[in-house]
Amino acid sequence: MRKAAAVAECRSCGAKIVWAKVHITETPIPLDPDPVPNGNIVLLRKRPYVEVASTNQIKDAKKNGTDLYVTHFVTCPSGDKWKHGRRGPKRKDEHD
Ligand SMILES: [Zn+2]
Repeated sequence: MRKAAAVAECRSCGAKIVWAKVHITETPIPLDPDPVPNGNIVLLRKRPYVEVASTNQIKDAKKNGTDLYVTHFVTCPSGDKWKHGRRGPKRKDEHD
């Protein structure tokens, strides 16, 4: 990812992630740092803001060669744990 705002490591699987923010809502969102062909997140000019792409945006992005990304929720082996809070999954040795 160009001009990565904040590279971090997933607390669960140790993968590199990049913290971005959802446009308007300002919700922090962890992204995988590398673009993927079937991604659904587009980077906005105003970093670190991103947007969940609509079907049309994805079509355009593919046509224009724009990079698409996915949230780390999707690729993380512990993805289900992320749903419990936006601070990320707990480590195996942590308890609720
Ligand atoms: Zn992870």
